[in-house]
Amino acid sequence: MSKQQAFAQPLDLCEYALPYVRSIAPYQPGKPIAELAREMALKESDIIKLASNENPLGASPMALSAVRAALADAGRYPDGNGFDLKRSLAGHYRLTQDSIVLGNGSNDVLELAARAFLAPGTSAVYSQHAFAVYPLVTQAAGATGIEVPARDFGHDLEAMTAAIRGDTRIVFVANPNNPTGTWFAPDVVLAFLKRVPARVLVVLDEAYNEYLPAAEQADSARWVEHFPNLLVSRTFSKAYGLAGLRVGFGLAQAQVADLMNRVRQPFNVNSLAQAAAVGALEDDGFVRKSFELNQAGMLELTRGFKRLGVEWIPSRANFVSFRAGRANQVYQQLLKLGVIVRPIAAYAMPEHLRVTVGLESENQRFLAALERVLRGAS
Ligand code: PMP
Repeated sequence: MSKQQAFAQPLDLCEYALPYVRSIAPYQPGKPIAELAREMALKESDIIKLASNENPLGASPMALSAVRAALADAGRYPDGNGFDLKRSLAGHYRLTQDSIVLGNGSNDVLELAARAFLAPGTSAVYSQHAFAVYPLVTQAAGATGIEVPARDFGHDLEAMTAAIRGDTRIVFVANPNNPTGTWFAPDVVLAFLKRVPARVLVVLDEAYNEYLPAAEQADSARWVEHFPNLLVSRTFSKAYGLAGLRVGFGLAQAQVADLMNRVRQPFNVNSLAQAAAVGALEDDGFVRKSFELNQAGMLELTRGFKRLGVEWIPSRANFVSFRAGRANQVYQQLLKLGVIVRPIAAYAMPEHLRVTVGLESENQRFLAALERVLRGAS
């Protein structure tokens, strides 16, 4: 056999990949505006995207000016320890810097937790209809996912506690949850924390925390001081408006944070993102404005649903999921009208669509498009 023939031998390299990696169902992000514009020959400016729970106000102006200033140093590696950002966060949350883990979005924080605690032979507990990244990172680590049936679309915390096994290392709780928008009051979460065995890490994902009225926000940074098995995950992607820059962070006791930092890429948060987050954290006015716009927009959307006779799941976040019957058809028809929402069939909710709260004009445009589609379909 010539050398060339030997090289021509078919070799399915992918067969050697880890079986649990090969069977992962990839995360399905919201359709980008540019993609829809290409597919439907629409102008980008005629399209509205309410599909990825982004902040309709864009980024905090203070964050943007910090990015501009940081650009001059783009030739250098970022601070791998994120000193300035950790100092700001430590001040904001009254925790020491060694209690903070920075992530390339909070998605990265979830992944670091999985990488530090999960492996084949272990398991993680999460709810049905919970954020898709929990099963994803669990499977990627080769661990077993234990999905607990939801109650009224929300987490059944009692059943989740009961589902914990001897090999369980992580319980994921999203509060509020995406894509259902369901939420627990702080005392309910606290009671749950007290029931979870200390050998199991509770990953409390509060990505949408800033959309809750201040009185309803859990003081979870204080809980971290009392529960060595608690990791609170937060993000700058939502109310701070930095989804494109990718910054999230975890708050945990130092020994947990240290473990997660060992599996973290040294420069996982780039320098522009770090600078932006420092700026955003100081911009209380922007966060307040984002919160208020969201409250008003949520009212606008749910009033619209009521008028149209559409059923929705009451949400405490910056999105709301509604029953659309043949949801995929409705989704496709909305796309033709230049409105991008999110199908959530992958969350075992094939009859629902999720819409992000937008600007007033976007909410109105979405409702008008939905009305057209529903009327046309009936
Ligand atoms: N947690 C939840 C519940 C989310 O909905 C999201 C965003 N879709 C994330 C975490 C991750 O967001 P990011 O990585 O942008 O912080």
